[in-house]
Amino acid sequence: MQTINQLDALRQHISALRDAKRRVALVPTMGALHGGHMALAEEARRHADAVVVSIFVNPTQFGPNEDLDAYPRTMERDADLLRAAGVDILWAPHARTVYPPGFATEVHVDGPSKGYCGAARPGHFDGVALVVAKLFNQVQPDVALFGEKDFQQLAVIRQMARDLDFALDILGVPIVRDADGLALSSRNAYLTVDERAAALALPVALARAAAQIRAGDDVAQSLAGATADIRAAGFARVDYFALADAVTLEELHMFDGRPARLLVAAKMGKTRLIDNLAV
Ligand code: AMP
Repeated sequence: MQTINQLDALRQHISALRDAKRRVALVPTMGALHGGHMALAEEARRHADAVVVSIFVNPTQFGPNEDLDAYPRTMERDADLLRAAGVDILWAPHARTVYPPGFATEVHVDGPSKGYCGAARPGHFDGVALVVAKLFNQVQPDVALFGEKDFQQLAVIRQMARDLDFALDILGVPIVRDADGLALSSRNAYLTVDERAAALALPVALARAAAQIRAGDDVAQSLAGATADIRAAGFARVDYFALADAVTLEELHMFDGRPARLLVAAKMGKTRLIDNLAV
C-alpha cells in the first residue's frame, strides 16, 4: 500500500493506473476506522482493480461547537488495517493541501440536504459536498462507495454527482452493526460503558417503529412512541425521529408502501449518534 499525502504524487499514481486501464474505487473516510469502513473497502475491491481509501478529518463539515478537535485520530492503526485489507493507496492529505490559503469555493446541494441532519447541523452537508467534490476530482474514481449509515449524506452525494456530471458510479453499502445491533461509528469511542449499553435503545426503537409502521400503525404515533423510548433510555436530545422517502428524503406522514426509511439522530451524553432503518 502506498501512503500519499501530496497531490502531485497522488496524480502520478492515478494517471499510471488510468494508463494501465485499471478501474479505480474511492472510499472516503475520516479515519478512526472500524468494521463499517472496512466493509466499504472490501466492497470496493469487488468493483475495481485499485482501491483508494482517503482519510481526512474535514474541518468544513464540523460546526463551530462540534467535535473537530476531539475527533479520534488513529492514523498508524488505520494504515495497518488498510494494508492488511489489501488497499492499494491511502490518500491522507493535510488540511493545507485540501484547503490552501486563499481557498474561496463553496458547494451547496439543496433538495436532500434539507431537514434532518441538514437542519440540526447547519452547513454540515456543504462541507461534505465540498470535500467529496474535491476528492472526486483528485482521485478521479470510476466508482465511489459510501455507507448507508449516513443515509442523508449518501442522498446528498448522489444528487451532487448527478447535478455536476461527475462520471462515476456511487454505491451505497449496508450498515455494519455490533453484535448487539448498535451501528458501528467512530463516535462510539466517546461513549462511557453505561452510555454504550443505553445507546442500544436506538436500533431497538428503530426496529420496533419499523415493524409498527409496516403493520399499518399510525406513523406519528409510532414515531412518538419511539422517541419516548429513546428518551427514557437516556437520549436527552432527540434531533429528529422521522420517516422519509428513501430516494428524495421527503418526510412521510403516511406509509404508502414506497421505499421508506426511518431516520434518527439523538444525543447520548455528549455524543451525537445517528442511525436509520428501511421500512
Ligand atoms: P466517516 O469516517 O464516519 O466519515 O465514514 C466514512 C464512510 O464510512 C461513510 O461513507 C460512512 O457512511 C461509512 N460508514 C461509517 N460507519 C458505517 C457503518 N457502521 N456501516 C457502514 N458504513 C459506515
